[in-house]
Amino acid sequence: MKQSQLFGKTTYEVPKDETSINARLLIRGGFVDKLMAGVYTYLPLGKRVLTKIENIIREEMDAIGGQEILMPALQNKKDWQTTGRWDVDVMMKVKTFFDKEYGLGWTHEEVVTPLAKKYIRSYKDFPFSVYQIQTKFRSEKRAKSGVLRGREFSMKDLYSFHVGEEDLNKFYDLAKEAYFKIFDRVGIKNKTYLTFASGGDFSKYSHEFQTLSSAGEDTIYICDKCKVAVNKEIIDEVKNRCPECGNENLEEDKAIETGNIFKLKTKFTEAFNFKFLDKKGEENLVLMGCYGIGPSRLMGTIVELLNDENGIIWPESIAPYQVHLVSLGNDDNVIAEAEKIYDSLQKEKIEVLYDDRNESAGVKFKDSDLIGIPLRIVVSKKTIEKRSIEIKKRDADGFELIGIDKIMNLEF
Ligand code: ATP
Ligand code: MG
Repeated sequence: MKQSQLFGKTTYEVPKDETSINARLLIRGGFVDKLMAGVYTYLPLGKRVLTKIENIIREEMDAIGGQEILMPALQNKKDWQTTGRWDVDVMMKVKTFFDKEYGLGWTHEEVVTPLAKKYIRSYKDFPFSVYQIQTKFRSEKRAKSGVLRGREFSMKDLYSFHVGEEDLNKFYDLAKEAYFKIFDRVGIKNKTYLTFASGGDFSKYSHEFQTLSSAGEDTIYICDKCKVAVNKEIIDEVKNRCPECGNENLEEDKAIETGNIFKLKTKFTEAFNFKFLDKKGEENLVLMGCYGIGPSRLMGTIVELLNDENGIIWPESIAPYQVHLVSLGNDDNVIAEAEKIYDSLQKEKIEVLYDDRNESAGVKFKDSDLIGIPLRIVVSKKTIEKRSIEIKKRDADGFELIGIDKIMNLEF
């Protein structure tokens, strides 16, 4: 992609009411545009990052047998009344000209449970799981944390269905592992803790994935021995001890809830009377689990964690491009050389953003740091005189000169 053609520009002006680091950097870098509080447009750079995060999540959900579907955002009032959740405060409602009301999905148990009931009846069809990556709407009271707390945001929600508790537990553990693989692949596993949280009426605990950050709205207590944590909301319930080993020396910290997994058991299957026929031909309620993770919140969390005073430092796995090629000056030879490198990188299917703009070195480097692509290649009059290019890693200080012919030996 040639930067001169890129839709969305870096900017040094940020809306005054935007105080969060993630939104400020994402807006300045030309990744997102703010429409209103908690509602953002993903510009080309931002959309590429979001898609990469979503694809990592997709791969890990496919790997545990999840089947991808896409459910509607516009939902039946009747189904929400069935579970008693029509009048919860996060629900956004829309009314047509003829006064018909719909709910905008903030979660999808009210769609997926009747859906599964329609197609599945025999014990032979279990276990199964379906998931989607879809836009959710929530009437969040405070939407001041940038993309961390949207009123419209992206969520991956997976729902699993089981004939017994043992099977549910087995899948739940598998999902837990898959979540850690996701956090590992997006570069924030070392800051992310499996956290005991309230389980609601049907389970003792649920588990959150909490990523340490001062931008977090949650307080957690970490057990250094077990590498697990407890959410403040239930710390009294566990008597200020680690639920795994009883350790009383827990460390308090701030964290962002990046994921949440929950054994719903029969909470929704009971409401919708979703039963299966067992081997004896008897009817039993189906058990369910639900597993949420927010790609847009994950993107914001990564920005909160991985930045310096100059901008974002994207991990390679989710960077908008692998290489930022920057040409300096208007010299014809420089431009020709840069074009050649651009073409050969593209031929090798290496994702490259090519800063071909007629701007000063200062502006180009400042923008490059702000955008945060992991590897920068600079072509200038100085470098081509030495038949070389300058390479610099975004997360390192120094740069290196290498021969132009060595470019394909680089690890991208
Ligand atoms: P929170 O406690 O932060 O309000 P939640 O417990 O309501 O979140 P879930 O309903 O479990 O969240 O949603 C699953 C996942 O979706 C969360 O772990 C988070 O990653 C993401 N998510 C939830 N609400 C938002 C939001 N308003 N904006 C962006 N992502 C969100
Ligand atoms: Mg929560």
